[in-house]
Amino acid sequence: MATETQNEPETAMRNRDLTVTLQPLERLAWNFWWSWAPDGTEVFRDLDPGLWQQCEQNPRALLAQVSDLRLAQMAADPTFSGRVRRLTERFDTYMSDTRPSPKLNVSARITRENPVAYFCAEFGVHNSLPLYSGGLGILAGDHLKSASDLNLPLVAVGLFYRFGYFRQRLNREGWQEETYRAALANELPLQSVDDETGRPMLVEVSMRGRLVRARAWLADVGRIRLYLLDTDVAENEEVDRLVTGHLYGGDRETRLVQEKMLGIGGARLLRKLGLQPSVFHLNEGHSAFLTLELTRELIESEGLDFAAASERVRERCVFTTHTPVAAGHDEFSADLIDKAFGNWYETALGLSREEFLALGRVNGSSEEAFGLTPLALRMCHSTNGVSRKHGEVSRELWQKMWPNRSPNEVPITSITNGVHPGTWVAPVMRRLYEQHVGDDWIERARDASVWAYGVERISGEELWQAHSLLKQRLVAFIRDHSFDARLARGESEDFIEAARTMFDPAALTIGFARRVAGYKRWDLLLSDPERLTTLINDPERPIQFVFAGKAHPQDQNAKAVLQRLITWQRDSSVRHGIAFIEDYDQEVARQLVQSVDVWMNMPRRPLEASGTSGQKVAINGGLNFSVLDGWWLEGYDGDNGFAIGDLSELPEEEADRREAESLYRVLTEEIVPRYYTRDTAELPSQWVAMMKRSIQTLVPIFSSDRMVAEYAERIYTLTT
Ligand SMILES: *Cc1c(COP(=O)(O)O)cnc(C)c1O
Repeated sequence: MATETQNEPETAMRNRDLTVTLQPLERLAWNFWWSWAPDGTEVFRDLDPGLWQQCEQNPRALLAQVSDLRLAQMAADPTFSGRVRRLTERFDTYMSDTRPSPKLNVSARITRENPVAYFCAEFGVHNSLPLYSGGLGILAGDHLKSASDLNLPLVAVGLFYRFGYFRQRLNREGWQEETYRAALANELPLQSVDDETGRPMLVEVSMRGRLVRARAWLADVGRIRLYLLDTDVAENEEVDRLVTGHLYGGDRETRLVQEKMLGIGGARLLRKLGLQPSVFHLNEGHSAFLTLELTRELIESEGLDFAAASERVRERCVFTTHTPVAAGHDEFSADLIDKAFGNWYETALGLSREEFLALGRVNGSSEEAFGLTPLALRMCHSTNGVSRKHGEVSRELWQKMWPNRSPNEVPITSITNGVHPGTWVAPVMRRLYEQHVGDDWIERARDASVWAYGVERISGEELWQAHSLLKQRLVAFIRDHSFDARLARGESEDFIEAARTMFDPAALTIGFARRVAGYKRWDLLLSDPERLTTLINDPERPIQFVFAGKAHPQDQNAKAVLQRLITWQRDSSVRHGIAFIEDYDQEVARQLVQSVDVWMNMPRRPLEASGTSGQKVAINGGLNFSVLDGWWLEGYDGDNGFAIGDLSELPEEEADRREAESLYRVLTEEIVPRYYTRDTAELPSQWVAMMKRSIQTLVPIFSSDRMVAEYAERIYTLTT
């Protein structure tokens, strides 16, 4: 059951007269830099903690709503105003520093006037800007932040969805329900991109036989500009206003027109802004129509034919594929393409209908649908997957496009995903790194030897104490969330009360949070509930589990799996040691990845293209316990975490059985004993040694700074 709740009528945000000492907060609120700056989140939170939570960590909403009394109190608090001043000074220093990072070898072609243009259908910059659904969006957000930190000239283009991803609630039967809440541009730090007359600049794209217009919003992400197209303008017909209405909602046709707007509208927007990107990066195939618009432009301006023009376009476009399964790649029937494009192929590109459709087909057969991945593969200079294994899988998957080559000759390379350190590191861990690795620990993180030496200097006690603080915070978070959720569902009084005492900060805590999708194999864990119950209730060495994750609204099977877990978790024999946190999002993710002892992942191989949540865990000292797939296949060295199963290739059922068995075996024989073995000072020394090893070996590699530098040095150079 999906409901759409409109927020209160759009009221203009109140402009506050902040006193001098707090005045800079207004400016800070307009750039997402605060969200990864040390003390950034904390300054806004401390202005009014209750309200901060209520307005979902949106600083603009906070500043509009905070009471006069609270403002006056905080303005008169010298400690607080000192923090505001220091934060502002750091912001100004950051923004005025235009030197490229010495860590970055940028091609001379990439400049402020000729930046990289990064296109993606979702961006997970911060929870308060809900324009993402999962891993792809979070990755894109981290890409922008690292590009900002490294001072790589880059502009980003995406869509402003009025209804972003759904909110998840469970009803009393444990069934997932969805609600959609409207995102309101005027409550977010989004500036309208206007023309000379002060009216919103509009780009026009013809679709379904008429012109559809979009305005653009600008979000500042550090030094990076993120432009978001929005078709909700009065000039459009009612249905066209909804083109950017829902993220991945609606039918195939809506998806197609959305992707036309992203690719074609996005290219037109950059042109109107006077930008001439030297490289266009298609992050996933959703924006692939962009290549056709660039071709059309060259045909028109230089009188080239399609072949010559598209050859020139290829010299400037690069493509990253994220999907290891054939069915996950976007494609459309020829009918839909006809409907959306009319005879554009002829008037704009000088192609016949068949020639046009062949651009999106693997071998041109008229039975084939039009796929955005074949289009991108054809029209881009390079293609990469997002981990070494995923590169290999993609070469096999798309070998059919190069029938005369063997899979290892298919021109698809890989760059392994990483996470943005400043965004994902917990403040207490950041402090340890500052003390022992240096204030510039993030810049030095790529230098494995400096990092290894620095982490060695953190004493076991210090590290364990920091981690224990985070676990206490997690337990409080779990109790708080569970209490509120149970109350809201009208559960029995004793079940609601039980939330206050659930979980033990000293017990081994395992986290598992991801989409409830078939290949993530949530059901593997529940394959032996009795054994699990025994583990949870072990009097000496108990385990506790915290879960989170959403099922796709239309995926009834996934919802049924979730329901089984929820129902089981209510049983009085396990409910003190199992928690399900509703509505997995960036903030819930942050709480979990910063605090668990062990992060579990058991996707069906080789379907995890990369995965990044385990990388967020590593930077916070947690240990990974995962199937050897995606990034973990590269990260695992035998001593820095735990593996589920091995690399043998087995039929699905057999693999499921073997890996479930391995999961329980490693848990009971390796993880539990190591965690609970304490030395005389009650310190789990072996465990702590492993935490250090995990930090030393994983953080230098799996950071988005390394990832973006690799894109700059290997892909954006357009030489591969
Ligand atoms: C990091 C993150 C993801 C991606 O993690 P996976 O390892 O691919 O599961 C998804 N959703 C959120 C909210 C995240 O923070």
